[in-house]
Amino acid sequence: MRFIDSHAHLADPAFDDDRDAVVSRAREVGAAAVVSIGESIAAADRAALIASSYHGFVFHTAGVHPHDAGQFDAARDIDAIRRHREFGAVAVGECGLDYHYDHSPREVQREVFAHLPRVTAYSIVQPGRMAAELERVRQQGYAQTSEEMSLGACSVAVPVFGPDARVVAAVGIVVPSLKRDKNRLVAALQVAARGIGRTVSG
Ligand SMILES: [Zn+2]
Repeated sequence: MRFIDSHAHLADPAFDDDRDAVVSRAREVGAAAVVSIGESIAAADRAALIASSYHGFVFHTAGVHPHDAGQFDAARDIDAIRRHREFGAVAVGECGLDYHYDHSPREVQREVFAHLPRVTAYSIVQPGRMAAELERVRQQGYAQTSEEMSLGACSVAVPVFGPDARVVAAVGIVVPSLKRDKNRLVAALQVAARGIGRTVSG
């Protein structure tokens, strides 16, 4: 099986001692690419460096985690995110709204989110739309995107449940269009997610 690890915190100092080994293991188990998340500008700078040393296999993102929304500085951080996008960042993130931990006040999170650069005409940067989208994900049991990051790229993703029915991961697929195939893709992903869930639980 070939897959992309779309969310790895490879820039975390926790990997400073064995990052090479982690990347090698990812290649061995079939990863076609790993996306190293820049959950802060500092992390994005580190992630960009790591991406350049595993060129063509590791890619990076730049964003501001909603937990850290309190330290957000629009003039400084938005420029930095744009620069990262120009120099190869494949996504804006971490970003969003985190109403589970509420490490930063919700109104501050909404304010930061509303400042984030729009990548396509479909990028969701309106806090109200994002909250509605999250609610829909919860109701439907799967997430979907439609050209928010790249035109001609849509995706669906479903949760992977581990022990105690806790969500431990997600698995998704990117396709040119979801129009006809969405239900079929969601069903196939749910089968895959159950298989992965059994493996990680066992
Ligand atoms: Zn993360």
